[in-house]
Amino acid sequence: MKLFLLGIAFALSGSCFCQTDSRIYEIISETSSERIKADITTLAGFGTRHTLSDTVSNTRGIGAARRWIKAKFDKISSDCGDCLNVFYQKDLVKQGDNNRITKDVWVVNVAAVQKGTKYPNRYIIMSGDIDSRISDSNNFTDDSPGANDNASGMAGAIEAARVLSKYKFESSIIYLGLSGEEQGLFGGKGFAKHALDNGWEIIGVLNNDMIGNITGVDGVISNRDFRIFSEPVPPTETERERGRRRFYGGEVDGISRQLARYVHKTTKTYMPEMNPMLIYRLDRFGRGGHHRPFNDVGFPGIRIMEAHENYTQQHQNIRMEDGIEYGDKLKFVNFDYAEKLTAVNAISMASLAWAPPAPKNVAIGGVVEPSVKLKWEKVVGAKGYKIYWRDTTSPTWDYSKEIGDVDAYTLEGIVIDNYFFGVSAIGENGHESVVVFPSAVFR
Ligand SMILES: [Zn+2]
Repeated sequence: MKLFLLGIAFALSGSCFCQTDSRIYEIISETSSERIKADITTLAGFGTRHTLSDTVSNTRGIGAARRWIKAKFDKISSDCGDCLNVFYQKDLVKQGDNNRITKDVWVVNVAAVQKGTKYPNRYIIMSGDIDSRISDSNNFTDDSPGANDNASGMAGAIEAARVLSKYKFESSIIYLGLSGEEQGLFGGKGFAKHALDNGWEIIGVLNNDMIGNITGVDGVISNRDFRIFSEPVPPTETERERGRRRFYGGEVDGISRQLARYVHKTTKTYMPEMNPMLIYRLDRFGRGGHHRPFNDVGFPGIRIMEAHENYTQQHQNIRMEDGIEYGDKLKFVNFDYAEKLTAVNAISMASLAWAPPAPKNVAIGGVVEPSVKLKWEKVVGAKGYKIYWRDTTSPTWDYSKEIGDVDAYTLEGIVIDNYFFGVSAIGENGHESVVVFPSAVFR
């Protein structure tokens, strides 16, 4: 009998060694392109959502748009027993702050917070943008539908709220509409400061900016490819941290890069039909996005977006020229693709929000030895850990070994010089934290 019970226990722990969670597949199938289409259509229908545009009208301008977004979040919240805390977060930006602020303006963000049951002060953010622009960045009156840039990201955040609010998570999730993006990333800056002021632990920002175009200016049409931009190391690192990298590595292993790898891996595991591309840079060449203000204060943040942009359909006056139809119009958005990228966000957030916190103070040793030693601070709520390593030229954590509830481990027969290493924490439910790159060395 005892042996029999042991057998069951083994089988159960074996089955809980789960690579996948069926709820993640539910989340993918519950994400709806029809609702995303309806929301992008409404947002594009506000005429312009320029940051400096009208705030009084209920049908045109950024004021109408943000009130509509807040009402959407409020409705989602009432459908889940008031599970969301919905609010405006705003900052006054003064005329002349830069040359795109031609008058004093309130930059108003809309946030919906779903509190975590176990780690309420740990937050994962999915952001889209409320505002839009045309050729002249300061024209706040002419039509600027901004269907792809960035009603698509905004609609994605609203849809993720609809889907994920049906579940309970251990960590908190924020669905966020940011404003002032096109005028100089003001909304992100304001919200990052709001997070700092409130002592929030932001474990990841998934900034979605243009997730609906599949027909690229490069002639490629692809509804599978998408990009995950991440900066290599935080801009807030110290001289000492920079100095030690020269000897111990970590040039391509900052916290935002680990977040990018997490989204990449989650997509590969659950949505193999998609082709996530890890892009090793902060953003597109010389261009900006709303993850950057979060990175600026030391939070991990990445940009998720289409792989093949079409420049005749972004930041353009609506017009015909030489037979080319210019403008960021609704008809150019592929809603099924926006649904896929929304699902990528939703499953990455769900997995992170179901996972325990990442291990802290990860240290590595093993110089001139035939083995690699790792140690870390145990995480309350973790049932075990996973040691990862990879070739120094590989973008992804290709090798791994799951271990039990310990705070140190030695990988025998592996030479420290030839790989990079990391550690993640695994929860009872099988969900895993981001991988942590060692920040200290021991003998
Ligand atoms: Zn833009």
